[in-house]
Amino acid sequence: MTGSAFVSTRAGAPAVSLSEAIARGLAPDGGLYVPARLPSVDPAACTGLTRLPDIARRALGGFFAGDRLQPALGEIADAALDLPAPNSRVAACTDPLYALELFHGPTAAFKDFGARFLAECLQRLESPRPPQTLRESRGPLTILVATSGDTGGAVAAAFHRRPWVRVVILYPKGLVSPRQEQQLTCWGDNVVSLRVDGTFDDCQRLVKEAFVDAGLSATHRFSSANSINIGRLLPQTVYYAGSSLDIERRTGFRASYVIPAGNLGNAFAAVWARALGFPIGRIVLAHNANRTVPDYLQTGLWRPRPSIATLASAMDVGNPSNMERLRALYPELGDLRNQVSADSVDDATIRHRIREDYMQYGREWCPHTATAAEVYHRLPADERRDRPWVVVATAHPAKFNEIVEPLLGKVLDVPDSLAKLLQLPRVFLDVSPTLGALAAALE
Ligand SMILES: *Cc1c(COP(=O)(O)O)cnc(C)c1O
Repeated sequence: MTGSAFVSTRAGAPAVSLSEAIARGLAPDGGLYVPARLPSVDPAACTGLTRLPDIARRALGGFFAGDRLQPALGEIADAALDLPAPNSRVAACTDPLYALELFHGPTAAFKDFGARFLAECLQRLESPRPPQTLRESRGPLTILVATSGDTGGAVAAAFHRRPWVRVVILYPKGLVSPRQEQQLTCWGDNVVSLRVDGTFDDCQRLVKEAFVDAGLSATHRFSSANSINIGRLLPQTVYYAGSSLDIERRTGFRASYVIPAGNLGNAFAAVWARALGFPIGRIVLAHNANRTVPDYLQTGLWRPRPSIATLASAMDVGNPSNMERLRALYPELGDLRNQVSADSVDDATIRHRIREDYMQYGREWCPHTATAAEVYHRLPADERRDRPWVVVATAHPAKFNEIVEPLLGKVLDVPDSLAKLLQLPRVFLDVSPTLGALAAALE
């Protein structure tokens, strides 16, 4: 291999190129791909840049070096990352508090960045050439996504109407919010939405069973687009690079972040951005009642557990997969504790924080963002006063209107992109939670 090498966190799989790591998603030993050596970036080369695609060219250049995708990095970044991600000052707060708004994409949550970047990468890897292997002759790639909410919509939006790929979304009947369901079912064309008579765990099990079923994989080429794919993580480091440079420009100080966390993909991207050299101070993880990570940092015992349903449902994760990347980067617990801290917020406090910050600051948070706002308020007063803090706003509150509106006593404005999706008709198939039913729906 000539370019950067990517290795598994479990060290039991051969090193691969970036393209291969993106195409595979999971390493064959069950681990997650990470660069063998974190490339070096000169953050000074990004000074003065404000557009994310321009920052991406520099911040991600080392990851793409020597790869088949390297010549396309600029194009990929232009197509995927030309979205606003402003640091908006919380003006009513006397301390230097900002919100990094990551909800200006087509499905109004940060997952748009990763899904769009992955789609652009995969499109170039699938490139229009005649099938070269038996596997490729089996027709378009089928991306299977089990979703409990935001991922399915972001992936559908990113891959919609791309002729080389089909997206099959599995979501649990009655367990996603009405507006989330709308975003999972409004696409048509190459997107198939399956409403599964079961739980999110059933959806995930079905996807896993399909991947290993010999019969199905003889007739379909399956791939996944879940958040462990390095093609979703890389673009997320770009908005932290951009945000931290902007804060440094505006205040003269490093930005510290409070990040709503579930699978830790978003938070890990911030850790990478700091390790690459961008001006980032503290990184604090805000979890909901799923306390696996805060408990681990406190006790040193890694105890994954079944997830608990909360108001911040996109963070209902009991066994966060990207922890494996964090521990690969900082194997010593003491080092890890120096790099990140974490806290947990229960549903009653999420509700309280949504109301409180609306009254105090006039800010409308989604339930996920509210966990981060709460953890920010728990910081010592001098820390909040003496350095700029950024609460990462991972979704637009209007996506969760049935939770937020009764708390604020008002109807939320709906961003244009979301409003457009809400008008489209819903199309879905009802399936029972069995592999047979999934196989029939794939035909
Ligand atoms: C997915 C999601 C999260 C959690 O992000 P991770 O990368 O899984 O930690 C937080 N907020 C929202 C709105 C999400 O959709």
